[in-house]
Amino acid sequence: MSDSCKARFEGRVAENLSATPGVEVIDPPAFAQLTTLRIGGTPVAAVRAKTSEALATAVSLLDEAQVPLLVVGGGSNLVVADGELDLVVVLAENDALEIAAGGLVRAGAGAVWDEVVAATVEEGLGGIEALSGIPGSAGAVPVQNVGAYGAEVSDVLTRVNLYNRSTGESGWVPISELELAYRYSNLKFTSRAVVLDIEMQLDPTGISVPLRHMKNRRISVAAARASVLEVRASKGMVLDATDHDTWSAGSFFTNPVVDSALADAIDAQVGEEGMPRFPQENGEKLSAAWLIERAGFSRGFPAEDAPARLSTKHTLALTNRGNAKASDIASLARTVRDGVEEKFGVRLVPEPVWVGMSIDD
Ligand SMILES: Cc1cc2nc3c(=O)[nH]c(=O)nc-3n(C[C@H](O)[C@H](O)[C@H](O)COP(=O)(O)OP(=O)(O)OC[C@H]3O[C@@H](n4cnc5c(N)ncnc54)[C@H](O)[C@@H]3O)c2cc1C
Repeated sequence: MSDSCKARFEGRVAENLSATPGVEVIDPPAFAQLTTLRIGGTPVAAVRAKTSEALATAVSLLDEAQVPLLVVGGGSNLVVADGELDLVVVLAENDALEIAAGGLVRAGAGAVWDEVVAATVEEGLGGIEALSGIPGSAGAVPVQNVGAYGAEVSDVLTRVNLYNRSTGESGWVPISELELAYRYSNLKFTSRAVVLDIEMQLDPTGISVPLRHMKNRRISVAAARASVLEVRASKGMVLDATDHDTWSAGSFFTNPVVDSALADAIDAQVGEEGMPRFPQENGEKLSAAWLIERAGFSRGFPAEDAPARLSTKHTLALTNRGNAKASDIASLARTVRDGVEEKFGVRLVPEPVWVGMSIDD
């Protein structure tokens, strides 16, 4: 552990944090306890923030003292190195939820995302039912513009309450400032700001968004949520402590966008009917899972007794079978990425945020 991170944190900074209403300094849990992959070492300290103000103040106090920090919600999009980590974890635990007549919804960053979805579906509101079962916090959904089954949170997000780490100011900003795109915002990988609260305008008619897995049918929001949860569970995409296929960070690689000539070449090379191809402005989006499988990596790769394997239900999830180290996940990620690149000339890019290590190390 670097003495400087610890030294900067201990003493006045830790005291000021402890004296801030809604902030609590706790003995740091290991990232293995904080992440859904259940890997990762121990930070210098952890700070719990119970309100939006407390979250902004905690980050500002750490920034002022130049203490490296990581805001953590549900830990479901993180790949963290083992050992001692030179950073302080800020746990977003501000979980207020307001649902107004007309479908305007505000959630604190620390609200559990699927609880927000369940509560809005219960109220008969549409717009996020296809995002049922996605683990993690409400504050993280804008960070990578979460999406599933044909819906993205950018379809309904109106504003976010942001703490801007360079100006030290908080305030509601329109989502246009986040440059949301497929699994992207300008918050992802930059940590330039912290989401304190989110606001969404949902649809009070009670009818779901068009559901991709049901040929774009629209059904009641309650039926849509039930159907999405059932399909997700069959793919190991709903957390279940007893099922190692869900000890993952979800889809490990984003779907690559390639030019049409390369898409044609891959289509011809594989020679199968129905290669998934989705036209985009700048080329065609291919399915990372399809490429992984066609490159020879099947479910459960590499072996039953391996500490890290592809999920036995879904080739796009890298999973911890119980005693994987960070290096096991990283090594499997490299094997899959390199195998796909060798076979098809497409370099897959990881979706999760890596901390203390990189796929390129
Ligand atoms: C089984 C499984 C299924 C999944 N399915 C999907 C899916 O269908 N679609 C999808 O898009 N994703 C999916 N994911 C990925 C993940 O759940 C989402 O990205 C989720 O939004 C991450 O939320 P989190 O709170 O766990 O973020 P964390 O893992 O805690 O953090 C991820 C990143 O966001 C940052 N961050 C967290 N909170 C804030 C905040 N308040 N302000 C600023 N930055 C913040 C962190 O610093 C970190 O860089 C899945 C993951 C798993 C494990």
